[in-house]
Amino acid sequence: MFKKIWNWLLELFFPSNLKCIFCGRDIPDPKVCYCEDCAETLKFNVGQRCKVCDDLVSADSEVCENCKSHHKSFEKAVAPLVYQDAVRGVVLKLKNSNARYLAEPMARMMFERLQKENFDFDLLVPIPLSPKSLSKRKFNQAKLLADELGRLCNKPVDSTSFVKRKETRHQKELGFLDRQKNLEGAFKIEDRAKILNKNILLVDDVMTTGATANECAKVLKKYANHVFVVTFARNRLTKPANDDFFRKNT
Ligand SMILES: [Zn+2]
Ligand SMILES: [Zn+2]
Repeated sequence: MFKKIWNWLLELFFPSNLKCIFCGRDIPDPKVCYCEDCAETLKFNVGQRCKVCDDLVSADSEVCENCKSHHKSFEKAVAPLVYQDAVRGVVLKLKNSNARYLAEPMARMMFERLQKENFDFDLLVPIPLSPKSLSKRKFNQAKLLADELGRLCNKPVDSTSFVKRKETRHQKELGFLDRQKNLEGAFKIEDRAKILNKNILLVDDVMTTGATANECAKVLKKYANHVFVVTFARNRLTKPANDDFFRKNT
């Protein structure tokens, strides 16, 4: 109870929507969720990108090496930011410090990125957590992002028809193929009528190798029509020649 009142007072005097989500400094306009300094240093997912997974590609190719060697079941995945530094900090804060207020500004950045695509989707589906992870964390960060994004897109969110039925081995050290194997049979459709012939936008916080999104899309497409993916950030498997490469949002 005390904590609730304390948080309410904090929010009243120091509203979180007037602070940069990356460094916590004051920002003049709550519509832009990061400060000017962060705008200069953040690594936006820019440049010539893979038309399937949004990873960096060389100027003369349309599809990255990963997508060339491993076919993806989703139509296209996009992310506004590269998963690094301050971006990683925000994702971990949302997940581990219960900073749920971050979901709204994060979703706004995802919405901005989505507006550059013409994804035709009917339904947003967050990538589910296993019952064990959900009971440990108490919430699914992908669902928080999907709920906010659904409001911005004015589209429904379905977080019950597609579930993760078992806990999978920690994937951090695994490559795409091992991750894919690790995830086999992990997801299932609970209510196929809600998925049938729908175009789905899968939502998650981070895409690492694309194996999770790919497995989800594979399962969903037994009934769904198309599957698109949006995440807040993505890991770049293809590295640019130098770090100055990343510049303001294109
Ligand atoms: Zn900042
Ligand atoms: Zn790719």
